[in-house]
Amino acid sequence: MVQSLDRSQGRIGGGAANTTAGPVSTYTGNRALQIEEPLIFEMGQPGRCGVDLPEPSKVKDRLNGLKRAGEIGLPGLSEPQVVQHYTRLSQKNYAIDMGVYPLGSCTMKHNPRINEKVARLPGIGDLHPLQPVSTVQGALELIDRLAHWLKTLTGMPAVAMSPAAGAHGEMCGMMAIAAALEARGERAKRRVVLAPESAHGTNPATAAALGFTVKPIPANDRGRVDLTALKAALGPDVAAIMLTNPNTCGLFETEIVEISRAVHEAGAFFYCDGANFNAIVGRVRPGDLGVDCMHINLHKTFSTPHGGGGPGAGPVVLSAALAPYAPYPWIVKDDGDTWRVAEDGAAVDGKPLGRLKAFHGQMGMFTRALSYIMSHGADGLKQAAEDAVLSANYVMASLQDVMTPAFEGPCMHEALFDDSFLKDTGVSTLDFAKAMIDEGYHPMTMYFPLVVHGAMLIEPTESQAKEDLDLFVGALRALAERAKSGTAAEDFKAAPRFAPRRRLDETLAARKPVLRWRPSNNPPEGDPMKQAAE
Ligand SMILES: *Cc1c(COP(=O)(O)O)cnc(C)c1O
Repeated sequence: MVQSLDRSQGRIGGGAANTTAGPVSTYTGNRALQIEEPLIFEMGQPGRCGVDLPEPSKVKDRLNGLKRAGEIGLPGLSEPQVVQHYTRLSQKNYAIDMGVYPLGSCTMKHNPRINEKVARLPGIGDLHPLQPVSTVQGALELIDRLAHWLKTLTGMPAVAMSPAAGAHGEMCGMMAIAAALEARGERAKRRVVLAPESAHGTNPATAAALGFTVKPIPANDRGRVDLTALKAALGPDVAAIMLTNPNTCGLFETEIVEISRAVHEAGAFFYCDGANFNAIVGRVRPGDLGVDCMHINLHKTFSTPHGGGGPGAGPVVLSAALAPYAPYPWIVKDDGDTWRVAEDGAAVDGKPLGRLKAFHGQMGMFTRALSYIMSHGADGLKQAAEDAVLSANYVMASLQDVMTPAFEGPCMHEALFDDSFLKDTGVSTLDFAKAMIDEGYHPMTMYFPLVVHGAMLIEPTESQAKEDLDLFVGALRALAERAKSGTAAEDFKAAPRFAPRRRLDETLAARKPVLRWRPSNNPPEGDPMKQAAE
């Protein structure tokens, strides 16, 4: 975006981003073996082709005047150019397979290769969702087997498998709650959903999308839900509370049983955001805490790949009271040995929501999650949770004398710091995160949760070896000490120095994204916002 393309010479020149106070610019714009990459359309030459196709035989034109008049504009490239282009692009992402990825609340854990191997078995990888049910009995059994373990691990009687990610699962669970209230004749009267101030943005967004009014519940000085404030907010107008546990400050809600009792006494439901389940899986069953429904991010807790907009999966476990309102389809085995996909209400009572998604859910993710669960076993799952918590506490303990933990005491799976250690240094949380890039680390989650000033949320997961955590901690200590020396603010503001792109104008990128390429002889017209909307 900040680079200028020197079209006349077909190469990228060292643009403004490469020249300000940074390493010298190069003739090519490349930085050592980090190679510049234009868009594929900018690389092509008219008439060049990677394949040698025979001349098509003459056929009678049946297009009835709809024949395309101009070129379709495909880039002309040789095969090596295409291979190099996509290989270089594939190396531009930082990934969990490259190093520490401490993005808090995202649980960026290792994706075991056994999962990939299983997902690619022909009997699984080559399935089509429209195949006759008699030919996919094993796949349906696989979905049911995963459902069994999700119910077992959460201590809940039912699970809706189809939601495509956590936020979609929230939608599913809250729709089930709305349907249950409707059945009780209370939907119109219970319009309020309570959510802690630290909640992930999807929680209030889900509630609002379903027409509820969101009322925030403050945290106490221990970073937990303020029970007195919660009790005061509960009343006959409240439909549900949406609560994450462990919460987004990385802390276990120690009064969770008391909270769920108060919520139920007020006639409301308890939606648990299960995104942080990795911290407690195998140790605590949310059903025992009084949860009515909870989504499970398979792409977090059960190691299916995510990031970069990749597939997620967000099955929702439901209590007996909410189970009748689960969406279709259900996998059932009602006559002996044959699995069946139930897609209408005739087979079961209750008033299901209909469908939330085409087909059965994210089959590839189900396969990987089941592979993860079965290859770890009960003891392995529990150990993964314990190691994730241990890693986070190790990071917290190793940094607490140079950075400032947001709350006292041990944490669960993520260590949360505020920016008070940067006070009067001229360095902000953002500058600190950018300097981490120069050290070879993807930054932690920043400025979330909102209740902590300049928040830095570090989730190391269970995947990293101790020496890798030590190096990470060492880098953060060095950065914190340099920031606190009071003389490095300029340096921090100029970071990252070693990345192919320096500090970007993120506001401009968010407000006026350039989403569509046009050839240089056909530049975008007028308002870039209009262009972005195209
Ligand atoms: C990740 C996350 C979500 C949303 O899940 P997606 O799968 O990204 O839709 C919701 N709540 C919390 C606390 C999360 O960390």
